[in-house]
Amino acid sequence: MSTPTTPETVSTSVLIIGAGGAGLRTSIELARHGIDCLVLGKRPHGDAHTIWAAGGINASLGSLDPEDRWAIHAADTLDEGHFVNDPTAVELLCRRAPDRIRELEEWGMPFDRTDDGTINQRYFGAQSFRRTCFVGDRTGQALMDTLVQKAMDLEVPYRENLYITDLVVENGQAAGAVGVDMDGGRPVAFDADAVVVAAGGHTSLYRRSSSRPDENTGDAQALAFNAGVPLRDMEFVQFHPTGKVTPAAEAGHLVTEAVRGEGGRLYNTEGERFMERYSPDQMELDARDVVARANEQEIREGRGTTNDAVLLDISHRDADFIRERLPRMVEEFAEHGVDITEEPMEVAPTAHYAMGGIEVDFETARTAVDGLYAVGECTAGVHGANRLGGNSLIETIVFGQVAGDHIARTLSPDASPALSDAAVRDHVATQDTLAAAEGDHTPAEITDRLRDVMWKHAGILRNEDGLIDGLRKLQQLRADADNLSVQADRTSRRYERAQNVRFMLTTAETILRGALERAESRGAHARTDYDEKNPAWRQNIRCVPTTEGMEIAFQDPGRPSPSVQQAVDEEHELDYHHLE
Ligand SMILES: Cc1cc2nc3c(=O)[nH]c(=O)nc-3n(C[C@H](O)[C@H](O)[C@H](O)COP(=O)(O)OP(=O)(O)OC[C@H]3O[C@@H](n4cnc5c(N)ncnc54)[C@H](O)[C@@H]3O)c2cc1C
Repeated sequence: MSTPTTPETVSTSVLIIGAGGAGLRTSIELARHGIDCLVLGKRPHGDAHTIWAAGGINASLGSLDPEDRWAIHAADTLDEGHFVNDPTAVELLCRRAPDRIRELEEWGMPFDRTDDGTINQRYFGAQSFRRTCFVGDRTGQALMDTLVQKAMDLEVPYRENLYITDLVVENGQAAGAVGVDMDGGRPVAFDADAVVVAAGGHTSLYRRSSSRPDENTGDAQALAFNAGVPLRDMEFVQFHPTGKVTPAAEAGHLVTEAVRGEGGRLYNTEGERFMERYSPDQMELDARDVVARANEQEIREGRGTTNDAVLLDISHRDADFIRERLPRMVEEFAEHGVDITEEPMEVAPTAHYAMGGIEVDFETARTAVDGLYAVGECTAGVHGANRLGGNSLIETIVFGQVAGDHIARTLSPDASPALSDAAVRDHVATQDTLAAAEGDHTPAEITDRLRDVMWKHAGILRNEDGLIDGLRKLQQLRADADNLSVQADRTSRRYERAQNVRFMLTTAETILRGALERAESRGAHARTDYDEKNPAWRQNIRCVPTTEGMEIAFQDPGRPSPSVQQAVDEEHELDYHHLE
């Protein structure tokens, strides 16, 4: 059992919460400008969700398809996002992606090469050209290795196993953050001139998800929201078409899109290649939402396997090619007795990516609170209603650089408020109360029930009655979470999960509220009671924190620049039959 302790106090110019691609790239930019910063994460150095990214990272290098250019990348991104993306964010992302990739190459990232030695690129769903750079199917791990090494070369300090529980805002300005050192259990207060939230997504809110255990619990979104920052696009949650269904411990884990990018085909148990019915032109490489709904439909209509799955087969390709391009998939399935060079994989949709999140100005990474910034999967705007595979790794790199550069040029220590003792005391008292809680419901039980609510009521198909019911159940979960049984040391997983519950409930409510509000189907948001896209809904839904809780507001996403609009009008599209 934990006893109240005096918090450790740490001072830094810039505190970066999160050490995945986004946090590390931000820290590298700050260090290159000579700015003192501290990066922290819930896990050891180099161990963030980004390492699970498999298939690749997008940039219009044109290595194999010289017709590709940044404006077509932007047009594909907007098209896939159903034009509710932030057009400035999309343009910045696609213009800067090639330079950021070349920079990673200079820093030693071991990209796969073409025969003539240039960076190789593969197809990914709904992209007009081969634009996805890769390192086999271990791109995220290679990216993290590169960034960790670069950050270490620049002597960026890292604090591991540190759980941030609250941001501290004084007089409307970020003053720092409070957390728990999960190694020793001691509270820690961070006094900083600027704070960057780079703490990832929230797909762990769902019963089946591609997330790592106990991660992606919506911490970033809830931390920012509680600090007064609006969230937007929360109704848009991407369900990836191909999650594993067995073994049970790996259910939801991803079968990378690279399998389809390299020619994998989907079949039902009647032996039918069913994408011919849903998307005869783009087949398995149509947008993720289209393929995910097709898989779900086949399963719901009884053409799935006994494990409620469809079959993904790449065995028509040469076995050596499969081993070279998809080594991780080959290994993972072999561990459970499936040789994917010979037989199909069972797959079903899984919650995979959060398009919604913290509202930021993408030219600076600033949020609505002075001195508070956000980068990476935790933000909203780049992907609109649906994300192109390969666009989120590049988002972390492009906007990490933007954030670091902007902060370095504008940081003004004199204008930053000091962290007050009273604020720290209050936050630490909340931690103490939570650790000692002697109620009736365990954190694991609340988490379990919440995941079922989200899967059932805000899952791949939604409707008004279901969402209202989901909100009602959430109310009950909130009441039960006020009666939590923790009684655990602050170094324990039980205590960590109790903290997670606080964040998960807040983030879940914004998803349910946003999904209820959007009375149409668009991208990843599929409503059975409004199954068409409605042009009047080309708006962003914002969840704005208020003293009473939250209110819903709307915003026009704006229009693309003329050069991007021209690429949109050219209607580029992948000719799937290249792959046949
Ligand atoms: C299985 C899988 C495969 C993917 N494949 C691809 C792909 O091929 N291409 C692509 O572009 N994208 C892919 N993605 C998406 C991509 O990996 C992520 O969007 C991206 O890595 C997110 O990076 P990030 O830096 O924003 O967050 P993360 O890498 O999730 O890092 C979050 C950091 O925040 C820390 N953190 C969280 N909460 C707290 C807290 N309360 N206190 C302190 N620290 C905290 C974590 O410890 C971690 O260090 C994939 C995702 C998954 C799940």
